[in-house]
Amino acid sequence: MVEDFLRPRKLIEALKYRKEYSAIPFAGGTDLVVQHRGYSSTGIRFERPVLYLDQVDALKRIMIEKDTITIGAAVTLTEILDHPDIPEVLHLAAADVAAVGIRNRATIGGNICNASPAADTIPALAVLDAELLIVSENTERRLPILNFLQGPGKTELKNYEILAAVIFPRPPLNAVHYWRKIGTRKANALSKVATAGYAEIDQDMLKQVRFALGAVAPTVIRLPEVERQLLEGEPQKYLLEMAAHFIRPINDQRSTAQYRKQVALNCFEEFLTTLGVAYD
Ligand SMILES: Cc1cc2nc3c(=O)[nH]c(=O)nc-3n(C[C@H](O)[C@H](O)[C@H](O)COP(=O)(O)OP(=O)(O)OC[C@H]3O[C@@H](n4cnc5c(N)ncnc54)[C@H](O)[C@@H]3O)c2cc1C
Repeated sequence: MVEDFLRPRKLIEALKYRKEYSAIPFAGGTDLVVQHRGYSSTGIRFERPVLYLDQVDALKRIMIEKDTITIGAAVTLTEILDHPDIPEVLHLAAADVAAVGIRNRATIGGNICNASPAADTIPALAVLDAELLIVSENTERRLPILNFLQGPGKTELKNYEILAAVIFPRPPLNAVHYWRKIGTRKANALSKVATAGYAEIDQDMLKQVRFALGAVAPTVIRLPEVERQLLEGEPQKYLLEMAAHFIRPINDQRSTAQYRKQVALNCFEEFLTTLGVAYD
């Protein structure tokens, strides 16, 4: 008989359970428990065995190498905030998730795999050009983070795979980082809009620039055409018009489309100003 709860220490064991029982990966549980809670006085119900990842050491490491940063999927947001070498844009995004109690449990892998359009670490990871390391018993593959996300709550993950880690290039010390989240309150508020920006400037030349937005589309998006025109040196007015064309949010319980669009454009303008200041 299958146990309802599986708590392996080794990744290989976790992958075996994942394949054998299509077990549900459970990292911090801060999304899963909310999604599976019953009516008052009833317990939490899961349709398949639950696979706890919190004891799997291989998923809990942060590795800082010369050119690359690797963050294990089961690293918590508090551990990210406590680490001295996390790039500023990711640090700021992680600090804006929920409040300290949730951040002590919530993991970066859970934030990604839950695939909310309002997941705060995703825009930051998108501008860092992050890739995901996805593993199964017999396979290993890497995907750019935005290719992994298919829609609200939908990802490319197969029911025998686990997200093992997030990997991105280590930014140079003089890189420009931008983060702005707009929510109803300072803590425990999902984003109405979240924006992240990143740029590398060398000898007064813009070498790389990326801008991502959360909660304005079914998944987090980047603005690749606008980024290209920005590298070409197009004027701010033109860039804002282009961005307005690509940002098409919806109305929902947290905000109106009109508000989201205006605020997203204000953030993009603020990012452009930050870049201007970085040139001086
Ligand atoms: C009060 C409250 C406030 C919140 N505020 C915010 C906020 O401001 N910003 C924000 O972005 N989020 C917020 N959240 C959502 C949540 O806390 C985050 O998304 C968190 O990072 C989820 O991580 P977790 O480890 O708890 O994921 P879990 O709940 O354990 O898992 C989430 C999903 O990911 C899957 N999963 C987890 N790890 C893996 C893995 N390694 N491989 C494959 N699948 C995996 C699970 O099966 C599940 O489908 C809030 C939640 C609550 C309850």
